[in-house]
Amino acid sequence: MSFFLSLVSFLTSIFRPSRRRVRVLMYHKVAAQHSDGLTVNVAQLEQQLIFLKANGYEFITVAQLKSPSLLPPKSVLLTFDDAYLNNLEYAYPVLKKHQARAVIFVPTAYVGKSSSWDTTAEPLLSLAELRSLDNAVFELGLHAHTHQNFKNSSLLEIRQELTQNLAFFEENQLPFVRALAYPYGGRPKDARTKQKMYDLLQEMAIDYAFRIGNRLNSWPVSNVYEIQRLDIRGNDSFQMFKNKVKWGKWF
Ligand SMILES: [Zn+2]
Repeated sequence: MSFFLSLVSFLTSIFRPSRRRVRVLMYHKVAAQHSDGLTVNVAQLEQQLIFLKANGYEFITVAQLKSPSLLPPKSVLLTFDDAYLNNLEYAYPVLKKHQARAVIFVPTAYVGKSSSWDTTAEPLLSLAELRSLDNAVFELGLHAHTHQNFKNSSLLEIRQELTQNLAFFEENQLPFVRALAYPYGGRPKDARTKQKMYDLLQEMAIDYAFRIGNRLNSWPVSNVYEIQRLDIRGNDSFQMFKNKVKWGKWF
């Protein structure tokens, strides 16, 4: 049954040209040569950006999402989770070269430290580096304060995470967009808590929240706190990248 409903929504989305589709790509790390599930290398990133431009996709910002009627028909939002130092070292020159834009989601408790929540901890951007980012390329957004997975969190814990996340930007007068990427894509499993979290996000004037989900979004979306992202993995083939961008999880 759920397959049938998915099929219907997929077909409806194809045959409804008046609604724009927004593709949101989720990246994490960028390396000189190495690639793995969470890491694309510079050559892969460049090949992907060239493909997107050559096929009529246009890079947009989170700020542009507020004006749906002005969005290009083939909008792509690039997102980078966790604020790795390698985003500045390796992604930035490639993004700049191809006039791309991207948003970096920052777990603020770890600014200037390393991704120690992970098995392979890597250096994260410092406050000075976040301040120095080229704002013609990068926007900054929220990724919870301590990178907590909201899957099993209470509403109080979520409130604390987001309050501290926002406070970091405000206290440091660091410009940011009011958009959140859920760490691990996790939202409360309990439906009632999840609904209360949506209410909380609204109360905190957070405009958008991004999960994973691997589908394209029709825009305007029915729920601004369930925006889907395509998981871009460094161990996927280029063909797989192209299929994901075109169709979402149907491949
Ligand atoms: Zn993360």
